[in-house]
Amino acid sequence: MSALLNPKRTVAELKELRALTGDDNGAQRVAFTKMWVTTRAWLRKKLEGLPVEIHTDAAGNLWATLRGESDREVLIGGHMDSVPNGGWLDGCLNVLAGVEIFRRINAQYSGKPPVTVRLVDWADEEGARFGKSLFGSSACSGNLDMNEARGLKDKDGIRLPDALKEVGVDFEHVKDSGAELKKAAAYLELHIEQGPVLLDLDLPLGAVLGTFGVERHAITFRGQAAHSGSTPMNRRKDAFLAAAKMSPEIYRIAERSGGGVCTIGSCTTKPGIVTSVVEECRITLDQRHLDAPALARMFEEAKAASEKFAQEGNVKVSWERLWQIAPRPFNDELIALCDESIRETCGQVHRLPSGPLHDAAEVAAAGVPTVMMFVQSLHGISHNKIEDTREEHLELCVAAFDKLVEKTMKWIKEKTA
Ligand SMILES: [Zn+2]
Repeated sequence: MSALLNPKRTVAELKELRALTGDDNGAQRVAFTKMWVTTRAWLRKKLEGLPVEIHTDAAGNLWATLRGESDREVLIGGHMDSVPNGGWLDGCLNVLAGVEIFRRINAQYSGKPPVTVRLVDWADEEGARFGKSLFGSSACSGNLDMNEARGLKDKDGIRLPDALKEVGVDFEHVKDSGAELKKAAAYLELHIEQGPVLLDLDLPLGAVLGTFGVERHAITFRGQAAHSGSTPMNRRKDAFLAAAKMSPEIYRIAERSGGGVCTIGSCTTKPGIVTSVVEECRITLDQRHLDAPALARMFEEAKAASEKFAQEGNVKVSWERLWQIAPRPFNDELIALCDESIRETCGQVHRLPSGPLHDAAEVAAAGVPTVMMFVQSLHGISHNKIEDTREEHLELCVAAFDKLVEKTMKWIKEKTA
């Protein structure tokens, strides 16, 4: 580890942030609120003393730039916002690791690194208030659906454009933030895993292969309501029976898919009374995979199974797409550099996909070579005040991520030489 890097300071600053912006229920840094503004002012203070230029872009993302010999840029991205009652590490770990890495680079290169280094604090990654995740990064990537976003309201009826105005952002121009990515040569994001994979393998760090693609559907089976006493079992058109057969089936589909996951997250029945055969049963299915053809196959298999079960039970079935996003595989060369950085720091590495979406998915979609590094989560849980990571693992991840930034600077330099 570089003698100029002090990962213990990052852990201390994370605790300082927790004391400033959390309460007994957890972190309270919801985007576009007073506490979020306080958080950002605190972050700016942390950057004071470094020769960085700081500005907020058209979408409210905060950028700190340390100019290098080359104007090609390595971006380090994270988010200071949290869900209400959130954990102390989600998002801000990355930003504060970035601040420490800035200090190391500034000291090592006397304020002039080989390439330009930028830290970005994305605005409203969580979407906790308006129900739409990745606001700042999707505005920047150009993928934000303006019509949908214009109509979003919080639980008090405040519109997103009005909430943005409060913090000095003009909604109609948020996509101008795309200009920030013009010289980006690589994007790096460190994050807590938020799942149990590294914990179960007893490994501190992992290299992330990309974010899952998602197919999300509502499936409705329609049969016939009938008296529960007078209708013989062989005369029933039981919508629930057909829907229920989907439950074990999606486990088989996921098993066959090589790394995908499927979830039936809700089930509602009509008429929904104890004395009637179910006339209508609506379930939701969420399917995720890193590989686009495999995801398409999982979807087709689920559809075929539903039709088979409908036919067997003499009921009808219909599908409605609720949401969909393509998988976002990360850059192979950067994944290899991430592997190397982890191996040099703690010996062993594991490659894994990301189930949750992250800002990195948006930056990758904008065509910037991207990779993420995960650090183990205790309890395999996040978006909860019990979210935690061992301090020694936090220190390791800052050291490994610092190596990745250094290797990426060299990689950019070689590519542009
Ligand atoms: Zn996050």
